[in-house]
Amino acid sequence: MKLVTYQKADGIAMLGGIKGDRVYSLHYATAGVLPEDMRSFLEFGDEGMEVAREALANATGGVPLDEVKLLSPITNPSKVVAIGLNYRDHVDEAKLPFPQIATMFCKYPSAIIGADEPIRWRREITEKVDWEAELAVVIGRTARNVGEDVALDFVAGYMNCNDVSARDLQLERGDQWLRGKCLDTFCPLGPWLVTRDDVPDPGNLGIRALVNGKVMQDSTTANLIYDVPFLISYLSEAFTLLPGDVIATGTPAGVGAFRDPPIWLQDGDTVTIEIDGLGSLSNPCLIEPDFQN
Ligand code: ZN
Repeated sequence: MKLVTYQKADGIAMLGGIKGDRVYSLHYATAGVLPEDMRSFLEFGDEGMEVAREALANATGGVPLDEVKLLSPITNPSKVVAIGLNYRDHVDEAKLPFPQIATMFCKYPSAIIGADEPIRWRREITEKVDWEAELAVVIGRTARNVGEDVALDFVAGYMNCNDVSARDLQLERGDQWLRGKCLDTFCPLGPWLVTRDDVPDPGNLGIRALVNGKVMQDSTTANLIYDVPFLISYLSEAFTLLPGDVIATGTPAGVGAFRDPPIWLQDGDTVTIEIDGLGSLSNPCLIEPDFQN
């Protein structure tokens, strides 16, 4: 099942399900049993998923997908946890030692945008903006000290993520990962959340990034060093994962920073992230004017 958060003409954001080329409000299709927003819906857990599945199968009417604006499937998670250096091919291109532990950092939810929304920055803040194709895991059940063997039961679904990174802030000006990773608009997610029953093996998915249609990253989640069950288990030992929380699982080789010469995103570029079965997440790049004093 493909779930979305979409915006209607009146500006209200709604939880929706996709059937064919139409989107259906799951709130209205269930006569209000399911809530209007994704995060509240995910708190219903597997039971909510069953209700949604049945409602979507029986839904009539709906709105053509190309007449609504899709937002990030989840706009307000309690946290987005990201994993650094988690693909064998990316560790090789970075010429870094093999990690002995999963490196984690966070992206603030305020950085989240959906498909087709512009990634924005100003030159006075950063001039080295890079892309990172990542498989994003969305948590569907409160997870605390979860074992690897049952970890996938705590997943609601998966989506594309672009872990946009300002490399000058992240690496050259005092190793400020938080600043380099959390600029507003630097966390595109979507276009939809694909529920876990439709993704039997998250450890065997092709993953790509394209810039202006040219393939820059082309790998598979089989190259993950720490796989999805491990990450859920490992993270949930340290802090509670809540329904709607997002885990960005790391990026494969082919980012702009490690090319010779490096390639940085430019005004007018379009970045597209594609993971097998999860659709295509495209965002234009927009450099805004510097502030004038
Ligand atoms: Zn990343």
